[in-house]
Amino acid sequence: MKGNLVFKIFFSILFLGFFCVYSYMHFSSGWTTNSFADTAASVDESSQPPAQTDTAAQATPQPTVEPTPVPTEEPGSDLPDVDLTSWEMILVNKDNSVDENFAPPETSTLANDCVVDSRIAEALTSFAEGAQAEGLPVYLSSGYRDYSTQQYLYDRKISQGYSAEEAAKIVTPPGTSEHQTGLCCDITDYYHDPKTTDLENTETFQWLLAHCQEYGFILRYPEDKQDITQVMYEPWHFRYVGVEAATYIMENNLCLEEFVALYDEA
Ligand SMILES: [Zn+2]
Repeated sequence: MKGNLVFKIFFSILFLGFFCVYSYMHFSSGWTTNSFADTAASVDESSQPPAQTDTAAQATPQPTVEPTPVPTEEPGSDLPDVDLTSWEMILVNKDNSVDENFAPPETSTLANDCVVDSRIAEALTSFAEGAQAEGLPVYLSSGYRDYSTQQYLYDRKISQGYSAEEAAKIVTPPGTSEHQTGLCCDITDYYHDPKTTDLENTETFQWLLAHCQEYGFILRYPEDKQDITQVMYEPWHFRYVGVEAATYIMENNLCLEEFVALYDEA
């Protein structure tokens, strides 16, 4: 009997223990769950539109809105309406040569016996006079140069000991010189006759560089384009391409090769 009583007491204590633990866990967790749910609901109502009060929707990751890229202008999309086949747009370089009979249809002789294609005579004169009006000395030289003269100059460089490759960087081989078109001119400071890169330090060059496009001219062989033009930097060599093309080329820091290529891509 004694053993039976002990068993009953032990069982009762065990049962009470389980009951207490169960009761505590049930009410405790219930209170906790409701409390969080209420809090979440109140936050939702105050900060979100009704459609998004669902806590499930809250948990779903919202698709990230990609920032709309600002449309950037395509390079060359603002190209001027220039006809590349017109006379003033001819490209002459090592890859685009002219034959020995190529010559301007008519030439004009300007100051310093500078001969150019008659169609650029007026523009070139205005360009030079523009510099002179600012009190800057200008000297025109080397306008039109025919094939045989170019041949002579090139051969002379070779005879001076230059390799064909080195000579070609200084004096372009016959048929590949822009001077054969008569559309360019070497312009130097009257007091700085030698054609060296030091010319860029003269006020005359600074003015010519800043204003050339207003007269339809470009600096044909810029220092940073030597890889493309395959001609050394020549701060004296200006080429006529017309005001529209010249303005675009100078404003966009291009060389003629790059400008022409933009039309091929378009
Ligand atoms: Zn030149």
